[in-house]
Amino acid sequence: MTRRLFNLAAAVSLVLCAATVVLCVRSYFTQDYVYRLLPCQTAAGPSYEAWGLMSGGGRLGFQRLRSSGLWMQDTQTYLAKHGEWGMHWHHYPYAPPRWGNENIWYRMGFVWRLRGPSHWFTLEWSAGAPHGAVAAILALAPATVALRGLKRSRRLNRHLCVRCGYDLRATPERCPECGTVVTRSGEGKAPAEPIVSSR
Ligand SMILES: [Zn+2]
Repeated sequence: MTRRLFNLAAAVSLVLCAATVVLCVRSYFTQDYVYRLLPCQTAAGPSYEAWGLMSGGGRLGFQRLRSSGLWMQDTQTYLAKHGEWGMHWHHYPYAPPRWGNENIWYRMGFVWRLRGPSHWFTLEWSAGAPHGAVAAILALAPATVALRGLKRSRRLNRHLCVRCGYDLRATPERCPECGTVVTRSGEGKAPAEPIVSSR
């Protein structure tokens, strides 16, 4: 059961990994920004808050910003420009970022940026990582499943116990070392997939 859940998670991870690679290629041509716009209340009055995911220039990022709400006009200008509250998706041609004088940490494509409080924002921070790093992490589980399958088929081919690697040529039905029972469905027919269970 746990194994099955892990395999399912690995399959999802593999799809996300492939999507990240596609997004990486796209990010050098088109920047994507998906965010959620929420109303919020600040000391200065009603304002807006945005939570977003970005993809651009080979980097995936997360951003959160909150308007200072100094002027209600600011909020209305923002809404007029970006539409209604809720989810939004913007995409535009990729342009390298121009860092301002904000507090920024940058190493090997990883970035952490903190801006404000300023005239416009009481809070703005963003964190980014290269698509490659995200894809590598997402590839871990699928790689584990692939290696496990490779090890299993290699043991089957060599007539070794799939569980512990014990030589089963003398006892092909059951592993004397760990008790794993090997049953072959469709005996005498073309090579069938062995069903392995343990006691
Ligand atoms: Zn065994």
